Amino acid sequence: MTSILVIYTGGTIGMKQNPETGALQPFNFEQIKEEMPALKKFGFTINTISFDPLIDSSDVQPDFWVKLCYTIAENYERYNGFVILHGTDTMAYTASALSFMLENLEKPVILTGSQLPIGAIRTDGVSNMVSAIEIAATRYKGHPCVPEVCIFFENKLLRGNRTTKDSAELFRAFRSGNHPALAEAGTHIRFNHNSICYPQQWGQTLCLHTNLDTNVGILKIFPGINPELMKNMLSHSELRAVILETYGSGNAPTTSWFLEILKTASDRGLILINVTPCPTGSVDMEKYANSLALKNVGVISGYDMTTEAAVCKLFLFLGQQKDNEIVKSLWQKNIRGEMTIN
Ligand code: ASP
Repeated sequence: MTSILVIYTGGTIGMKQNPETGALQPFNFEQIKEEMPALKKFGFTINTISFDPLIDSSDVQPDFWVKLCYTIAENYERYNGFVILHGTDTMAYTASALSFMLENLEKPVILTGSQLPIGAIRTDGVSNMVSAIEIAATRYKGHPCVPEVCIFFENKLLRGNRTTKDSAELFRAFRSGNHPALAEAGTHIRFNHNSICYPQQWGQTLCLHTNLDTNVGILKIFPGINPELMKNMLSHSELRAVILETYGSGNAPTTSWFLEILKTASDRGLILINVTPCPTGSVDMEKYANSLALKNVGVISGYDMTTEAAVCKLFLFLGQQKDNEIVKSLWQKNIRGEMTIN
């Protein structure tokens, strides 16, 4: 008998207007169920767990990911799949983090939510949640069809650690610019099996990695960036890694002060990762003289990873390794389908 666990954490999907302030705030899951008679039509068990407190996802912190991991691990044997109802603001971070924290995952963990609350007439919450549950219950060749951490939104199932929030307006709230959709929902749900990561061997034990080191910074490069500000940030004593959001395929200024600041930081042992701000495409540090200059001062390629995935992958590696040099060598490995190395 199939059974799915829905974990409700908050987000717009379950929000209602506060009559006094007019602002949206989370309300309880019993009221969500009332808005969704379709839940009773599934021919299998759907159980729910509600987090307490329910949060707007802009309040998400790493301890929330740890709580989610334990909730999944404690219920792993009893359920065929998991659907997490979550706000859209940090959903791509949570999906990325869970993908790294849950090693040997062999069951679907699908995050979804909505742009309009479930009580609104035109809500996207019902279709998102119904499709996510159906996908979580789907099997293929005797195993779960999508044994990955994913995001389902509008009509697409995306690999979680490839996503970025793309729109604060459209129902298609997420993009996955560098990896195709794992499934598309129309009149049928069509799975793209070639894009899904299947275990080499089924039957591995789920392994949790909950020790995260968050001493990571993100530095967005822009024309006119202040040298003192940059120097101050990179010389912070507790910082172990910085993600540089550069330009295009990983380019940045070649002015001597800029490269010197990076070189000093890198010589001090700081891990510097080069990530592209472009929705599609990859960092290529040998394409232009400007990106090669970064490589020469010790900056490492983040390939086609999203900033969200890069942050979470660093949290994981830094939590596991005290030595930054080991983290740098581990970095080059694609561990959960988060990057493409050609
Ligand atoms: N602020 C909300 C949240 O992330 C937005 C949403 O759910 O779409 O919780």
